[in-house]
Amino acid sequence: MTADITKLVRKNIQKLHPYQSARRIGGQGDTWLNANESPISVPFKARIEYFNRYPECQPNHLISSYADYAGVLDSQILVTRGADEGIELLIKAFCEPGEDAIIYCPPTYDMYAINAKIANIEIKEIPTLKNTWQIDLLNINSNLDRVKLIYICNPNNPTGNIISKKDLKDLLKITLGRSFVVIDEAYIEFSPKNSMVNYLKKFPNLILLRTLSKAFALAGIRCGFTLAQEEVINVLNKVISPYPISTLVTDIAMQSLEKKALENMKNRVLQLNMNRVWLVNELKKNSYVKKIFDSHANYILVEFYMFEKIFQNLWEKGIILRNQNHKNNLKNCLRISIGSNLECVHLVKELKNLSKI
Ligand SMILES: *Cc1c(COP(=O)(O)O)cnc(C)c1O
Repeated sequence: MTADITKLVRKNIQKLHPYQSARRIGGQGDTWLNANESPISVPFKARIEYFNRYPECQPNHLISSYADYAGVLDSQILVTRGADEGIELLIKAFCEPGEDAIIYCPPTYDMYAINAKIANIEIKEIPTLKNTWQIDLLNINSNLDRVKLIYICNPNNPTGNIISKKDLKDLLKITLGRSFVVIDEAYIEFSPKNSMVNYLKKFPNLILLRTLSKAFALAGIRCGFTLAQEEVINVLNKVISPYPISTLVTDIAMQSLEKKALENMKNRVLQLNMNRVWLVNELKKNSYVKKIFDSHANYILVEFYMFEKIFQNLWEKGIILRNQNHKNNLKNCLRISIGSNLECVHLVKELKNLSKI
């Protein structure tokens, strides 16, 4: 019977390796530095008490609040179940299996490729340039055939770098009228001046992804936003499920966008950015650390001598990091989310202990 069931599964899904989310890998940690979540939790109370009615498909007040925050028009926003749903909806709406392709620039966030595989859409892999991690414009340019979507993560996860604004503008020009450039700004609050949001007016082929999961410390509610010109948002509204955003999610998300909450978010960002600077300085003193890549987000990518021993030993001590060794050009690298002051101190102390063994 089991064999029969397997045969019923689509071939691309049979072959699929699912996303290794931080909550799937297990572990008995008390110091979770592997999912780039906020280490500080922000308390919210639900204000709505009645739940017998379906929510609006697209919660209007939430859209207005986020539009104010992001500096775009209400009509340029789609609310989704995390930025992840935005990645998926774009493929659903724009990519024809067997005909169209996406461009994916590893090392980067895996979900662009995973969603393409699920939808059976061809993936053109154009790695970023080694060590600078900038996009390979020439190579992208000569591979645009059949490409509908180009996914670019900025700041890039897991390398932490910013993609040059000039390159992004050039890419938007080259692809105008042919492909969409989807810029995933999940971490943009940590480096707001690098946002491309002001180019939405100029480039109708620009699409941005945002989330409340990182700087807003709301990974648990699953709320993200797609920003694009109105025509794109209208198309996405055709393929989104009827009631994707629960009443409770809208309630909490609205509160997180109020003036005081936004100030608190910005203060948390400042604190985490300071923690990052501190952690980088401390790690530089550790003899196991080979290279630390410059980061503009709430994580750092670190190349280690004996990365496996480090990863395993810290794991056993309850400090869970993200192994990046299997990814393009990231041999011996671990990604470390920036934790609270205490978590950063804890990590540095355990690493010091290890280097004495
Ligand atoms: C965390 C992350 C996401 C997912 O965000 P959700 O809103 O939680 O779905 C998207 N893109 C990148 C690059 C991320 O790191």
